[in-house]
Amino acid sequence: MNFSQKNSEIWVYAEQHAGVIHPVAFELLGTARKLADDRGLRVTAAVIGDLRASCGEDLIAAGADHVFLVTHETLKLPMELPYEEILYRLVSREQPDILLFGATPFGRSLAPRLAAHLGTGLTADCTSLSIDPESGLLKQVRPAFGGSLMAEIVCPVMRPQMATVRPGVFPRPTPDFTRGGNIERIWQPAGTPKVTVLRTEARRDGRSIAGAKRLVIAGRGIGLKKNLALVEELATLLDADWGCTRPLVENGWCESFRQVGQTGCSVSPELLVSVGVSGAVQHTAGIAGAKQIIAVNKDPAAQIFASASYAVEGDCVQFIKSLISELRANPPMRTIWGSSEEYNG
Ligand SMILES: Cc1cc2nc3c(=O)[nH]c(=O)nc-3n(C[C@H](O)[C@H](O)[C@H](O)COP(=O)(O)OP(=O)(O)OC[C@H]3O[C@@H](n4cnc5c(N)ncnc54)[C@H](O)[C@@H]3O)c2cc1C
Repeated sequence: MNFSQKNSEIWVYAEQHAGVIHPVAFELLGTARKLADDRGLRVTAAVIGDLRASCGEDLIAAGADHVFLVTHETLKLPMELPYEEILYRLVSREQPDILLFGATPFGRSLAPRLAAHLGTGLTADCTSLSIDPESGLLKQVRPAFGGSLMAEIVCPVMRPQMATVRPGVFPRPTPDFTRGGNIERIWQPAGTPKVTVLRTEARRDGRSIAGAKRLVIAGRGIGLKKNLALVEELATLLDADWGCTRPLVENGWCESFRQVGQTGCSVSPELLVSVGVSGAVQHTAGIAGAKQIIAVNKDPAAQIFASASYAVEGDCVQFIKSLISELRANPPMRTIWGSSEEYNG
């Protein structure tokens, strides 16, 4: 679609399930707010479902100026076809410049349908977004060619500029409930859908490390499968969860939900201890949101050190064993691992 750019707005599609907004919507709103503030733009969130008004208040607290709350009991279950039709009508009418989706299973299905219907482009799985100060175009960065380079993609002609971002890539903003904003409630039934969702069921293997506040990530440098027991012990002592790189999943050493990176999950812990990981771009694409990274590698030229706050050159198994002994002897006060304000050591 070739809009007249009536509204220089950044829109975020706020996915919800059972009335609960998906965390990625808040992460996207935090980033949209920063981009908008730099350019004097407005941020709008669009949410569809059988919704309470407080959904809209939460979205305003996260950075939205305006919320389209499209609500009806027939929209209770997420359904691509009616949701896409509703978004198509809203977007065609309001003509936002930028439209962002979470790259969740539902977002990955909804966003391309809408992009095709609108006749615009879509960049999937972006790892960073910025606005070019001269052209005003959205610079969408994502790994390309199997992750061997980071591509910067722009959509110069068609509108809106659409992108998806995986959960955990951007930090979640601290909510500000003093922010003002408008909530526009739209009563809209689903119509007669071609496909009817009868019920949804949570996955039984629904474990995830994506929301972990502290994480130990093991790479091939740990050498042997039995050393994962040490990784797990270290994680327990740090009150952390643990993850791994792709080769460990391919070796059958770890379950796939633990894989971090481009084809695994994205994580944004306060503390990440990375042991025996080379730092290939396909892996670091998943740890961009981590606040503090301690990386241990025996190779001083390892790429992971470029992402690290603290670089430890040496044998990672020895490092893990020493840290375990230290933590057993001097267990950390829980507050040390809380927010930085609580840090008193
Ligand atoms: C399309 C595509 C998608 C991909 N998606 C992902 C993904 O989602 N996640 C992911 O992780 N990878 C992914 N990969 C694979 C990625 O390219 C790398 O191959 C992988 O991340 C490497 O894992 P690694 O660091 O554990 O192993 P390696 O690259 O083998 O690195 C091992 C590191 O351990 C160090 N080391 C060895 N022994 C020791 C020791 N005793 N002490 C300390 N350090 C030691 C070495 O110096 C080395 O740096 C993907 C690849 C492709 C092509």
